[in-house]
Amino acid sequence: VVAVDHVQKSFGEVKVLRDISLAVNPGEVVAIIGPSGGGKSTLLRCMTLLERVDAGDLTYGDLTCAKDGTYGDKVLLAQARQRFGLVFQNYNLFPHFSVLRNVMDAPVCVQKRDRTEVEEHARALLAKMGLTGNEDKVPCQLSGGQQQRASIARALAMNPQVMFFDEPTSALDPELTAEVLKVIKGLAAENMTMVIVTHEMSFARDVADRIVFMDGGVIVEQGPAEQVIDHPREERTRAFLAQRG
Ligand code: ATP
Ligand code: MG
Repeated sequence: VVAVDHVQKSFGEVKVLRDISLAVNPGEVVAIIGPSGGGKSTLLRCMTLLERVDAGDLTYGDLTCAKDGTYGDKVLLAQARQRFGLVFQNYNLFPHFSVLRNVMDAPVCVQKRDRTEVEEHARALLAKMGLTGNEDKVPCQLSGGQQQRASIARALAMNPQVMFFDEPTSALDPELTAEVLKVIKGLAAENMTMVIVTHEMSFARDVADRIVFMDGGVIVEQGPAEQVIDHPREERTRAFLAQRG
């Protein structure tokens, strides 16, 4: 579904991504782990077209957006952007919109879908995220965990083919973390294709079909949790896991 091929990215002199190739298959859940500064967020930002790659190809299904790092067509980019949803650490809801309007905004304004249909969909998604009764509140009236679940509903409202998460729980208290992880696990159970950067090892182990360990701008090792977490082959992976306890 989504692939990056030989992607490179530098900030000034600093090479942050060094020849990264990663293909995510339909229905697959990929967890990206690794030490701070290893390039996880940069990779996610490149994959979601928030950051330009210097070299390499980006493919979304039948759309190739960046061939050798050149982004040709704006129409193509806009099409590709509609194929994925994005959830960050800091929920980024529109503060002055109601929760319902936050979820409805892009489907109505960007996708030009029928308002009645979108509202029904949005209410159903909010219910699925355990937020029934909160539709008319503004984000600051919700807990962090509720806000994060609202932003997941907002991303899902676009009917994405892939969901990207960058440390979706790192700003949350443990009990709020659990409720967010639960809804992500629910999406995995429905075969949603997902790429999740996380430092929650037990969650990564539970939810991911594949664990990707990144360090120093490269994929050091990848495979099922039983391999990468339980029996890492690479010294760098072992060191990272040992230090995390
Ligand atoms: P963390 O676990 O702390 O979130 P990360 O693996 O997500 O780390 P990145 O945020 O991708 O790491 O950062 C990788 C490197 O790129 C770091 O050295 C960082 O300082 C640098 N970097 C990231 N974004 C920029 C930017 N916009 N300008 C300059 N340098 C950047
Ligand atoms: Mg990061």
